[in-house]
Amino acid sequence: MNLDTPVNKIPRIGAEYQKKLKRLGIKTVRDLLWHFPHRYQDFSNLTPISEVKIGETVCIQGEIVEIKISQTWKRRMFLTTALVKDKTGSIKVVWFNQPYLINTLQAEDGVYLAGKTSKGPKGMYLSNPSYEKISSRKSDKSKLVHTGRIVPVYPETEGLSSRWLRFILKPLLTKFQDEIQDYLPEKIRKEHKLLGIKKALWQIHFPDSMELAQQARQRFSFEELFILSLMILREKMKLMTEKSISIPIRIKVIKEFVDSLPFKLTNAQKKCSWRILKDLEKTRPMNRLLEGDVGSGKTVVAVMVALNVTQAGFQTGFMAPTEILANQHFQEISKLLKGFDLSIGLLTGKESKLKNRKIARNKLLEKIKQGKVDILIGTHALIQESVKFGKLALVVLDEQHRFGVEQRAKLTLKSELIPHLLSMTATPIPRTLALTVYGDLDLSLINEMPKGRKKVITKIVAPKQRKETYQFIREQVKDKKQIFVICPRIESSNNGTINSWTDTKTIKQEYKKLSEEIFPKFKIDMLHGRMKTSEKEKIMKKFKKGKTDILVSTSVVEVGIDVPNATVMMIEGSEKFGLAQLHQFRGRVGRGDYQSYCFLLTSSSSPKTNKRLRALKSCENGFELAEKDLEIRGPGELLGSRQWGIPDLSMASLKDVFLVEKTRNTAKELLNKDPQLKKHPLLQKRLKLFKQRIHLE
Ligand code: ADP
Ligand code: MG
Repeated sequence: MNLDTPVNKIPRIGAEYQKKLKRLGIKTVRDLLWHFPHRYQDFSNLTPISEVKIGETVCIQGEIVEIKISQTWKRRMFLTTALVKDKTGSIKVVWFNQPYLINTLQAEDGVYLAGKTSKGPKGMYLSNPSYEKISSRKSDKSKLVHTGRIVPVYPETEGLSSRWLRFILKPLLTKFQDEIQDYLPEKIRKEHKLLGIKKALWQIHFPDSMELAQQARQRFSFEELFILSLMILREKMKLMTEKSISIPIRIKVIKEFVDSLPFKLTNAQKKCSWRILKDLEKTRPMNRLLEGDVGSGKTVVAVMVALNVTQAGFQTGFMAPTEILANQHFQEISKLLKGFDLSIGLLTGKESKLKNRKIARNKLLEKIKQGKVDILIGTHALIQESVKFGKLALVVLDEQHRFGVEQRAKLTLKSELIPHLLSMTATPIPRTLALTVYGDLDLSLINEMPKGRKKVITKIVAPKQRKETYQFIREQVKDKKQIFVICPRIESSNNGTINSWTDTKTIKQEYKKLSEEIFPKFKIDMLHGRMKTSEKEKIMKKFKKGKTDILVSTSVVEVGIDVPNATVMMIEGSEKFGLAQLHQFRGRVGRGDYQSYCFLLTSSSSPKTNKRLRALKSCENGFELAEKDLEIRGPGELLGSRQWGIPDLSMASLKDVFLVEKTRNTAKELLNKDPQLKKHPLLQKRLKLFKQRIHLE
């Protein structure tokens, strides 16, 4: 047996447990040893029995006076009852439904017991404690696993109990402790005062003191972030050696384009465009993320670059996250490039168009293959098997942070050249994430809004102010303005389960209430993700054209939708959304010349919620908000389901700018000296294992 031995070869792990482990992604001995506790219970201090009080969690050491088994009369439940004494007194102990204990524990046995006391009809008893049979001799104390020490508590998912994990892990650690080699170079360990691997692994599972547990966690946080940095930096280095198409900058055409715009570009837009154009001149693939607050004008930057690409005879693929957005982009971009005689196509799951005309899908695909479509705009349909670009040089991804490695590979195959990648996002990325999980991307920032934009006035609205808010909306509509109302969910669950969402404004209820009771005279529409695409588009179009007064919607309007005439964004149950998301909603208004408003409705009185909503009110900078979100909610919650398979420890340390910078610099230094990690084979191996678990997107 070694660290790579599959868990099913470990003697004490049966089929049932193998399945459970598999669901947690634990496949080998190593995976098991690296499955860390998320907290500890300190049972290192023994309480004399005479001092034990009701409701306390304690650890005692004593001798079993008697133990017996009985069955409750009503529920036929097994009770194992024992009396345990020490020098100071005795206490009753009850285990529920563990009849087999009678075979393990007998009178006169010395035991350690750890658990919580309860009050029963006949006085206090210790309820379902962890137990360990052991003599009071000093040498035996080191054998304790579940009691009489600091005890690890593991995340109890998939039916794996901490007791079982401790039972499995202790002998494994003993057995493998000499096989575990430290892949962190000694120099780095010394410099950053990190525990050696052997000690760290023991202490993270079975710490001798809370301080050592903390040191062990520090070592692994450092290590994981360090390895993550290594991975990302090497990814970046690799991309630098790949070949892409060099696109010359055609100043004349770019000038023409800029002159044709109905507005003046901001300095930030100019700077970013230039940066990207310069990137494309190079023969290595660009991998750039363009960040800019909602409404900062990212599209026009991408369009300018795409135009430049067409001048060299190459194609651009422009991918949007939804059909509505793809359509909006198709229209916008066609308009922006009207004077340039280009063939611009649209390809979504539903539609295929070329130059504003419907075209058969097959025909469009054929033209794409021949390189006759200059700019193809679409949804994920763009990376389907059947789409083959003849001369793809640039891929623009709107409102998606990054392209997965696999997706990039797919596109590359299609064009037989590695295209340049430009991702655009309005979701600001906190600094720690920019340095780590997004560290392989070059960042450009549009940190300036177009001139003349008015600040959106943000208000937190309590339930009792609802009436006046409706009155305000009424006046806005009478003034020919348009309103968004956002609700967190589509329907309340009616399957009888009770959950905390029951009071959530559901969009259908809200729609009904608004159109029948509150604003019966106004034109109101409803939009949500479960509607047919064609229907969604119709409704969106109506709203854009000003034919609807109020649009009640779920978060589908979150990104990109541009309706300059909308002045009010009213968000129901605002506490249900993250700050970055709320900021995105807010960015849907204030896009025209009028004063706009964002109303955050909430009935929550939790301090955490209030802190978040107040942060939104006082801050209009998406980047600052992202940092605040990270600070208040932590990376786990912030990223939601998008956790990329990053281990929990490093996930938590993604909050720590100082540690992130330190590990990144350490990784950089090491790679400068040893880019291929040739002198660090152990580290190389560890990196490989790490990579298998991570899937960045
Ligand atoms: P986002 O960065 O959120 O994607 P868009 O590219 O959709 O923003 O731009 C938002 C709106 O601002 C569009 O209507 C666009 O035409 C307009 N716009 C872009 N740049 C400028 C500018 N420099 N001055 C004025 N309006 C601009
Ligand atoms: Mg956009």
